[in-house]
Amino acid sequence: MSKTNYIFVTGGVTSSLGKGIISASLAKLLQARGYNVTIQKLDPYINVDPGTLNPYEHGECYVTIDGAETDLDLGHYERFTSQPTTQANNVTTGRIYSTVINKERRGDYLGETVQIIPHITDEIKSRIKLLGNEGDFDFVITEIGGTVGDIESLPYIEAVRQLKWEMGNQSIVIHLTLIPYLAAAGELKTKPTQHSVKQLLQLGVQPDILVCRTEHHLNLNIRHKVALFCNVETTSVIESIDTDTIYNVPLLMKEEGLDTEVLRKLNIKDNRKTVLTQWENFLKRLKNPIHEVNIALVGKYVELKDSYKSILESFVHASAENLCKINIKMISSEKVSDENVDYMLKNMDGILVAPGFGNRGIEGKITAIRFARENNIPFLGICLGMQCAVIEYGRNVLGLEDAHSTEMNPRTKYPVIDMMDEQKSIDNMGGTMRLGAYTCQIEKDSKAYLAYQKQTIEERHRHRYEFNNKYLQDYIQAGMIVTGVNPKRNLVEIVEIKSHPWFVGVQFHPEYSSTVANPHPLFVGFIKAALNKK
Ligand code: GLN
Repeated sequence: MSKTNYIFVTGGVTSSLGKGIISASLAKLLQARGYNVTIQKLDPYINVDPGTLNPYEHGECYVTIDGAETDLDLGHYERFTSQPTTQANNVTTGRIYSTVINKERRGDYLGETVQIIPHITDEIKSRIKLLGNEGDFDFVITEIGGTVGDIESLPYIEAVRQLKWEMGNQSIVIHLTLIPYLAAAGELKTKPTQHSVKQLLQLGVQPDILVCRTEHHLNLNIRHKVALFCNVETTSVIESIDTDTIYNVPLLMKEEGLDTEVLRKLNIKDNRKTVLTQWENFLKRLKNPIHEVNIALVGKYVELKDSYKSILESFVHASAENLCKINIKMISSEKVSDENVDYMLKNMDGILVAPGFGNRGIEGKITAIRFARENNIPFLGICLGMQCAVIEYGRNVLGLEDAHSTEMNPRTKYPVIDMMDEQKSIDNMGGTMRLGAYTCQIEKDSKAYLAYQKQTIEERHRHRYEFNNKYLQDYIQAGMIVTGVNPKRNLVEIVEIKSHPWFVGVQFHPEYSSTVANPHPLFVGFIKAALNKK
């Protein structure tokens, strides 16, 4: 296709309807017809990126290959499409405003009064069009965060209105809404959807397609009614019924004809079939496990599942790959102590210690790792989880009393994890960690090599602290070996314990690159080891 088509996805009635999953599913369906698709998320909050947000506020911070700290929806986009995203795929109000204000300070506006319309909206529009201009995509799907009617999202809706006008039939708007079921009346109710479309209309935007989240099937009557009140065709009322796994959604959307409707609205004639064989195989495997394991996820943000989104999804991919049901027990590291660790972790076939920042819950993580090490339970430590494994080994095997990371104890006698030199002069917290994909060279005789089956890998990072190479020889002599390093800078990337059945700590984040098409080898290997232990 010579031109890029733009699909805007807005949300109405309430948040958390799953715009990200709908966007990713539509992208998957278009991709399955042979199109090149990318998805972008526009977030109306004023943070420049979610990197400085507590996971409790906004869920996990997802890191792209180019080192952007982004919204967790980008994780869904990558997991569904295997298409890498970059900074350009996530824009926030904070980023828009800081660009516009910098331009103003530079004098770029030549004395004009700088206003929301046109300056902020122009900046939003240019960020939307950038992907189409650069990436030679057939479709750019732009998801607008928040709910229509929010004050914060007004400039984004206005930008969509302008673009729709400028682009004509090269763009459409999909509005995701809710059709609630009132149990007392025994009825599905369309009024909230009518109101939310009216709100969009007040802002000058007529949606082309409505995707309606619902607990019960929408009959033809309901579809006609929604169509009538919202000025859309009945075929453009798409049901999105609740389902037990997000990975069903592309198939449900295919059945409802979302992709066909999108192409029709964009006047694209296409007789190609949507080929989803690999996806269907994945689902078949996921739904028909022949094994089962129990895995503990030890972290400090366990109350909110979104905090560990990518880790949990990586387990889903590894589950399908191993035909193994994985029961995850979320364990708050703050609650783990020497006294209760036996009880907390009994019956676990594998223990994962999560990434994180700060001191809270650290000792519980270290206790859990000791338990995994001493009881030969498969262990995967990610980022802070790996650093804790190094601390634990230092304290309990090397006898380095109170060994620590200088993040938690700047005055420790044994700083086995220490700040990278280049980090020491940094004052700003936002976007200044070691971020994005770096090369790691793997030792052949290792669990990591067994998993990856190759020696050179690229993995994504997000941290300030590192294994302190001053202690390298002591660790190796004591049996904790380094099986992966960054070849350029000699930084330790992977540690293992030789005498343990499967004990792997990684400084990087494997969870960011696990997808349906390519389940991450370390998660697959970890689950295999857990199965073997059983
Ligand atoms: N807090 C640690 C660091 O900054 C680990 C970060 C993480 O787990 N992502 O190095």
